[in-house]
Amino acid sequence: MRKKVIAGNWKMNMTNKEAISMLIELKEIVKNIKNVTIIVGGPFTALSDAVKIVEKSNISIAAENVYPKDAGAFTGEISPIMLKEIGVKYVILGHSERREYFMESNSFINEKIKAVLAHGMIPILCIGERLEDREAGRTNDINRNQLIEGLEGLTKEQAEKIIIAYEPIWAIGTGKTATPEIAQETHRAIRDVLKEIFGEEISEKMTIQYGGSMNAENAEKLLSQKDIDGGLIGGASLKAESFSKIIFAGE
Ligand code: PEP
Repeated sequence: MRKKVIAGNWKMNMTNKEAISMLIELKEIVKNIKNVTIIVGGPFTALSDAVKIVEKSNISIAAENVYPKDAGAFTGEISPIMLKEIGVKYVILGHSERREYFMESNSFINEKIKAVLAHGMIPILCIGERLEDREAGRTNDINRNQLIEGLEGLTKEQAEKIIIAYEPIWAIGTGKTATPEIAQETHRAIRDVLKEIFGEEISEKMTIQYGGSMNAENAEKLLSQKDIDGGLIGGASLKAESFSKIIFAGE
């Protein structure tokens, strides 16, 4: 039985002050949740205080990106060492916004995954197809390629720790959610690719989250699907009230 993992992705929202007040509120609301792994991903400027606020609670903090080198002449970038030192536990990687606006390739994302794992943090690898890919029947091919190239060279032990977030691009921030049936079918296909790469035992242990306009209303149905092990939530993670409702749906 895989434990549900509900993660927020604040994107480029939340000043440090806003992050602190949201987390204080969230921490109180979800304090009795035991059966859901709760993660909040925020901008770099909020991470240090965020980690302190959630200390000794059931919430962990994620970064939304990292540069895959320990240190050096990479102006403006943040290294895994820096994240690890302040207590960040997870790093969201390969989000479709990073793939699209910052031209991140599967091989660059693969480097980041390895760097994050090397420093004892857990990558959340985002994959997913565009609307035109789905309409052309290419969904499974796109996801398969992102998985094969993104996870290239990882051992079974490493794979087991990784979280996959399936996020159909046409559902992100659009209010259009994949139906639970469509999402389940794609999650099954994703798990089949993981089985092909890492074997059945590992693939059955791996967490596959759904992301794309998940909210308090649709969360329960999505999360009740056999291969949907949690959610990566954008818009609805910005407020403690809406985010906590999704967390409760996973409990
Ligand atoms: C996301 O950006 O990861 C996401 C799923 O966003 P939203 O929930 O707003 O669609």
